[in-house]
Amino acid sequence: MRQIIIAGNWKMNASKETSSSLIMGILAGMGDVESKVIVCVPYPYLSQVEALATHSQLCVGAQDLNVNAAGAFTGEVSADMLKDFGVEHVIVGHSERRSLYAESDAIVADKVQVALNNGLTPLFCIGETLSERESGDTEQVLARQVNAVIAQVGIEAFKNIIVAYEPVWAIGTGVTATPEQAQDTHAFVRDLLAQHDGGVAQATPILYGGSMNPGNAKELLACVDIDGGLIGGASLKSEDFLQICKAG
Ligand code: PEP
Repeated sequence: MRQIIIAGNWKMNASKETSSSLIMGILAGMGDVESKVIVCVPYPYLSQVEALATHSQLCVGAQDLNVNAAGAFTGEVSADMLKDFGVEHVIVGHSERRSLYAESDAIVADKVQVALNNGLTPLFCIGETLSERESGDTEQVLARQVNAVIAQVGIEAFKNIIVAYEPVWAIGTGVTATPEQAQDTHAFVRDLLAQHDGGVAQATPILYGGSMNPGNAKELLACVDIDGGLIGGASLKSEDFLQICKAG
């Protein structure tokens, strides 16, 4: 039985004040949450969120990492730096990074590897654009994205990877994949992993991301191959995020 995992992705939205009130709000309502809950916050707020979340069941995550250990990489943040702030999970290959910062499958695979090498759990994002879905290329795109990582780190490494299927057309748009669309695609991804190792495929958490909210979370999380959610917009309000955490 795979545990439900709910991860919030704050993206580039936070201030000292909102970070504090959001975390305090989440912590106040976590008592009856059975899911594993992660908040992936912007770098400058890691220290603050780490301090607030100490001794709680809330896990602190980051939204990206650099593949280098240290040195002349202005503006970048290494895995060691993340670990210094209690980070255990890191989003890798989010569609915004792939499209806005030209992160290729090869770069994403490198980042997954570096995260794993440093004991961080990657939230490895995959997903097709609207035009790719409409032209019937969804499975081919997902297979390319997943196989690039398998080729680099091996299937066994997926024991320490969380996959997040995020159709690009559903991210931040208010358009959600139907439970049927999401389930079919998650089953495809699990089959893809199973072609390499059935046991690993069964154990790998596959989260859905794309306009998940308190109104649609229950139905999506009820699907057999959907093991949680990666939540953008709805993770910025503690009441909404908590409702999703309790929907699984
Ligand atoms: C995301 O950024 O990963 C995401 C799923 O965003 P939203 O929930 O806002 O669609």
